[in-house]
Amino acid sequence: MDSDKILSLDCATILPRKSLKVKVKILKTLYVFLLTNSERSLYIKSMRTAEHSNKTTTCPYCGNASKRFGKHRNGLQRFRCIACLKTFTEAHARQFRVEDYLKEQRGIMAIQLLVEGCSIRTVERITGIRAATLVDLLLIAGERCERLMDSIRNVPVKDVQCDEIWAYVAKKERNKTAEEYSDENIGDCWTWTAIERHSKLVLAYSVGRRDIDHAFELMFKLRRATSDSRFQLTTDGLRAYVHAVHAMLADRVDFAQLIKYYSQPREGEQRYSPAQMVEAVPVAVIGDPDPKNICTSHVERQNLTMRMQIRRLTRLTNGFSKKIECHRAAIALHFAYYNWCRIHGTLRVTPAMESEITDHVWSLNELLNHA
Ligand SMILES: [Zn+2]
Repeated sequence: MDSDKILSLDCATILPRKSLKVKVKILKTLYVFLLTNSERSLYIKSMRTAEHSNKTTTCPYCGNASKRFGKHRNGLQRFRCIACLKTFTEAHARQFRVEDYLKEQRGIMAIQLLVEGCSIRTVERITGIRAATLVDLLLIAGERCERLMDSIRNVPVKDVQCDEIWAYVAKKERNKTAEEYSDENIGDCWTWTAIERHSKLVLAYSVGRRDIDHAFELMFKLRRATSDSRFQLTTDGLRAYVHAVHAMLADRVDFAQLIKYYSQPREGEQRYSPAQMVEAVPVAVIGDPDPKNICTSHVERQNLTMRMQIRRLTRLTNGFSKKIECHRAAIALHFAYYNWCRIHGTLRVTPAMESEITDHVWSLNELLNHA
């Protein structure tokens, strides 16, 4: 078979042997067909729902009649009101928004991975949701969890422990430039925690500097979360606690500090090992604290849980927070999940159930979509 014959055969299968005019016409039809059924036009078609297909011409601002006024760049008809001259687009279905992910299995799965200590990039690779979208999703989930954490009220408590855990946003304090020096949104960022010893409920937390303002914030939140019965409070030796507890809780606590002294770390291990504690001295500050219960072990165990579950707190990685908002959101998400969803190893129920603020284990879906 010679090559001419093959060529003519091929042409015959694609286009019937017709005049050039007809061939051009067929190609044009094909082009129009491809154009009208492209992904974009299908998307626009899907935006027009059946119920809104009759184009409204009444102005949504004043109710007067409107005239057609060209098309939007997405293909939807636009109108302009004759009376008030405002323009508007024909009614169309709402687009997909980031928070809609929280109603989907994939979005819930993404949050589940985040609370189990995966990094944003890992979650992106597993779920296929883009990193930027995941950050937005985390911010929304964090805001809802923060509201839930702030709603804790009137919990009867016996023994509360407070501590702070270090982390940093964007860069460590010592790496800040002169311009960044007074910027509170970058640099070292501490999480202050108040936990009930028996129910393991995180009653209050505060995110920010290790200064007196945040000690006050934590004690204010602790007062708001607890009932007015008397309880014992233990903190570490930080001076700021003394002022804050005097101001906020003096009428209802027996307050003691456990002042710990550490040895100098040995060469080489200082980056990876905590310093060895030499001595812990309990000091009664307010009221009559029971010496047996002056202890910060439970809140320090909670610090470990945080380091295990929040990727941002894993040292010597680059999973650290780049923005303070994301850091706050991740911490709020962790505490809410810890209190309401995660079955505690010792209790066999969630801390929220143990302290009787709920009667069941919450699913992550319930946590993220409550009220
Ligand atoms: Zn109008």
